[in-house]
Amino acid sequence: MNPVDHGSKRTRIILIYILGVVIPGVVLGFMAYRGIRSDDALREKQVRQELNLAAQDFFQLFNKELADWSVDTTFSPLVLYRDSNIRIVKNQLLYLPGKFLTDQGNGMLNAGPDRGWELEFLENNLEGAKDFFVNKLVGNDKGSSAINARCSLARILRKQGKLDDALKEYQKILLLNPTENIGQLPPNLVSALEIVKIYQSLNDTAKVKTGIKDFSAKLLNPISAYNFQTFDLFYSELQKLKVNIPKADTVFKLLDQAIQRTNHLNKFLLMADEYLAYPGNQLVYMPKNGYRDLLVTQRVESGEIRAALVDLNRMIDNRLGPLIKSADAERHYSWKIKEDSGIVLFNYVKPGVTSLLPFPFPNPLPGWQVEIQINPKPFFKALLESGKGLYAGVFGLLVLWLIMGLIFTIYLLSQELRLSRMKTNFISNVSHEFKSPVTSIRHMSELLKLRRVRTEEKKDEFYDSMIEQCDHLSHLIENILDFSKIEDDIRKYHFKKIDPTDLIKNLVDVHRNRSAESGLDFNFSVSGSIPQVMADQDALRQVVYNLLDNAGKYAAGGRRVDVNLSATDKEICIEVKDYGRGIAPADQKKIFERFYRVDDAQNEGIKGSGIGLTLIKRIVESHQGWVTVSSELGMGSSFYVYLPIDQSLAK
Ligand code: ADP
Repeated sequence: MNPVDHGSKRTRIILIYILGVVIPGVVLGFMAYRGIRSDDALREKQVRQELNLAAQDFFQLFNKELADWSVDTTFSPLVLYRDSNIRIVKNQLLYLPGKFLTDQGNGMLNAGPDRGWELEFLENNLEGAKDFFVNKLVGNDKGSSAINARCSLARILRKQGKLDDALKEYQKILLLNPTENIGQLPPNLVSALEIVKIYQSLNDTAKVKTGIKDFSAKLLNPISAYNFQTFDLFYSELQKLKVNIPKADTVFKLLDQAIQRTNHLNKFLLMADEYLAYPGNQLVYMPKNGYRDLLVTQRVESGEIRAALVDLNRMIDNRLGPLIKSADAERHYSWKIKEDSGIVLFNYVKPGVTSLLPFPFPNPLPGWQVEIQINPKPFFKALLESGKGLYAGVFGLLVLWLIMGLIFTIYLLSQELRLSRMKTNFISNVSHEFKSPVTSIRHMSELLKLRRVRTEEKKDEFYDSMIEQCDHLSHLIENILDFSKIEDDIRKYHFKKIDPTDLIKNLVDVHRNRSAESGLDFNFSVSGSIPQVMADQDALRQVVYNLLDNAGKYAAGGRRVDVNLSATDKEICIEVKDYGRGIAPADQKKIFERFYRVDDAQNEGIKGSGIGLTLIKRIVESHQGWVTVSSELGMGSSFYVYLPIDQSLAK
């Protein structure tokens, strides 16, 4: 067989592999891929459905809550009732439009001036006026008329310079938390302001400060209803006190925000008639000046119509989180709520979650949408649950398997082809090795038969040569037979005590004679005393013969071969050192492999079969020994065979 045949054989096998394994694998893979794709589409549909359900659940909760929010004054700054008259439930309003104040809090003004008032202002009789109001308070120190009287009393005490007494009276008024005005004026604001002024005249700075704090808090959280003018009166008083207010900027910022909000809500209040005219439920989204208010009008059970303005900003801050928590207790999803302007009102998106699906809010919030996506699950859970991960994994494994299969096949194939090539070479090498001794024997025997060899001396020489050639032939045959026995593991060894010195010396002599003509000298030396070893005599002869034969073949130019025998406590060492061509490091590892011969070009036509060193290695190892080589290209080689002395080792 020539290399072209090997090449086509390899191509054929690879082709069969591709047809039988790779193509079906790829087809299967493709089908799996298609499967994954359609599975993907199915999953996407399922996910969309799941998210839609989650969104609908949330909307349901939201709407239910909306109904509650519209009566909850925490979220509804304004609730208006229309029965016979418009009734306002107010919250968060600093002042009301005058229209809503006509019949509120003017009781005292309508009652007209009384005797105390005459004494104080017309007759300038402060003591008399004081007595009048003190008497008025006897047995009646609560209620609006009592508060009115106490205010007058405090005022008179102040005029009289009895500041401590005046203070006490104003403080009593504050404790009563009056919700009715005294002629447009809210008594709690009046009292708080008067307290500040008294402390100012007493030069008590600390008390002034706490007093102002209390006053501004009362201005921000009115407990009675009054109009803008009244509010503004107290607001400008507060501004006059500005220098004494700690963190004045924050206080005024808060107040200004509240003023703006109040103005916004008052505009709405002024349209209350229109809103309350609608009989049915209706929801109107009125985003304005950053306020997000939702108007809800509905007929309540009693038949009244109610309109509530729900403060969505408050709701977003306080209620959306808990609401989503109750809609998605196990936190399966990421949530985002957006307004049509694109402003994100609520964001609870896990890092890494993208492509959220939008679902529009049902009325009453046109333009609002909730965006949801399923949160990623832990890697292995997700892999098991999603067919995709599993398919992809299996597909990846399949591809890996095919590639590994291909690599493995190519590797095995190359090994097999290499061995087969070596075997082919082996046969042709052996034939060549046999051919020259056979030809030479035939030639000599022909000459002898034709009696061309005249002298007895010459005849002896011919006979010796023929015997030597036959010996060599039988050695070659032995090598081959032993090799096949060793390969089949049926080589038997007969161990006995052997003196290695004699054995080696004889073989060195034989080789010295053989190569006398080529001028190669074989030297043998012994270092120290050499013990006997347990060995198979024929096998050991073969080892040494092959080593010497190789030295004769490959180191002919080296003129000398040194054979040395030495021993340590544990082993003997046979060293065969030549000064020939040497062996390249890469080849040193391979020469012990069966059939391996260094490139023919390097061996330069030297005959051989590539099993000599393999045999040496196997035999030595069967003797529990080992063989090594050290060599340098162009300088020569040394082969070392170590055999243990410990006789129990020999089996
Ligand atoms: P063979 O000698 O029949 O080819 P071996 O197994 O004895 O087979 O040797 C294997 C190869 O090792 C040889 O082909 C040769 O190239 C190389 N080799 C062995 N001994 C020597 C040596 N003393 N010097 C250089 N090369 C050697």
